[in-house]
Amino acid sequence: MHLRKRILVTGGSGFLGSHLCARLLAEGHEVICVDNFFSSARANVEDLMDDKRFELIRHDVTFPLYVEVDEIYNLACPASPIHYQHDPVQTIKTCVHGAINMLGLAKRVGARIYQASTSEVYGDPEVHPQPESYWGHVNPIGIRSCYDEGKRCAEALFFSYRRQAGLPIKVGRIFNTYGPKMHPNDGRVVSNFIVQALKGEPITIYGDGSQTRSFCYVDDLVECMLRFMASREDFIGPMNMGNPGEFTILELAEKIVALTGSGSRIVREPLPADDPKQRRPDISLARRELGWEPQTPLDAGLEKTIAYFDGLLRQGLI
Ligand code: NAD
Ligand code: UDP
Ligand code: UDP
Repeated sequence: MHLRKRILVTGGSGFLGSHLCARLLAEGHEVICVDNFFSSARANVEDLMDDKRFELIRHDVTFPLYVEVDEIYNLACPASPIHYQHDPVQTIKTCVHGAINMLGLAKRVGARIYQASTSEVYGDPEVHPQPESYWGHVNPIGIRSCYDEGKRCAEALFFSYRRQAGLPIKVGRIFNTYGPKMHPNDGRVVSNFIVQALKGEPITIYGDGSQTRSFCYVDDLVECMLRFMASREDFIGPMNMGNPGEFTILELAEKIVALTGSGSRIVREPLPADDPKQRRPDISLARRELGWEPQTPLDAGLEKTIAYFDGLLRQGLI
């Protein structure tokens, strides 16, 4: 028999946040979703609005927030390079002031708090695959630094609040995750390639396409978040969360062309600065501590994501 909790999800109308809110409601909890709609639309959580246990608040986490909750998932932050680079100062404020405010809130109400950290804390990694013990290789002044260093500072804040105030923290480093409800225009590789393929437009590969990423389906990631939050109090991370299957960007493009049956051709565009050359999580810690393992193979996850974007296209929404 599990207790109904009141749970705050910041960035709750975003891609991951909207899936997390839906899952928490399905588990029987009350959910307060906080979002300033910087990189998402209310439409992502429209299907949850009729549920009396769901509350949506328009709020920017860089400002203090006073609510009474049992748990906090701090996801608020633009996540795609074009969104986080659009207003880099705001990205840093969201990472840093947002973390301070949510930690202050957690301290006042005694809530467990999960931080959505990222594989970007490893930068352009020289250790492969990346274990949690790796300190990373980050350009502190490059175009990605607003996000990378913002997230690194947030981790420092979480561990400092832990040391100083004994807060029950959970820091999880999320690797590239994809699925339905990704923003069609946020420039991330999976959404870009699928939308391009469905529209018959050229597939834009940046650089030679030999850079690698490891793609996790959203349902697997949300399961990992819930298990992490429920884990023993002294297991605080940092913990990698992702799917260790590694693919080159060219392989991803070819897969999406095949799965959509698209006639799109592949074109090359310049590689953005500081684009990591390789990325793959070492998930031994999550396996050992949570018994967690991604269940969705890339092809199966891509098929569901393609069906989602195909639906948007048919409704004239993209
Ligand atoms: P997203 O952009 O879809 O969601 C982020 C949400 O945060 C959006 O709804 C946005 O409007 C909101 N937001 C931004 N700034 C805010 C602010 N100041 N106040 C309140 N709300 C604000 O991105 P996502 O993929 O759902 O990512 C969610 C979290 O997970 C982010 O913290 C991101 O850094 C992290 N993450 C995601 C991935 C991934 O592959 N999706 C990988 C690593 C880390
Ligand atoms: N804070 C908040 N909600 C709360 C409690 C605190 O937003 O319920 C904010 C508060 O505005 C403060 C920040 O969290 O700026 C950090 O709080 P903390 O108690 O750690 O620091 P202090 O208030 O002593 O600066
Ligand atoms: N990418 C690409 N074409 C696109 C979008 C992205 O080749 O249309 C590449 C990008 O350069 C990077 C990888 O795909 O090497 C993943 O990019 P994304 O923005 O999804 O995430 P991140 O770089 O933050 O992992």
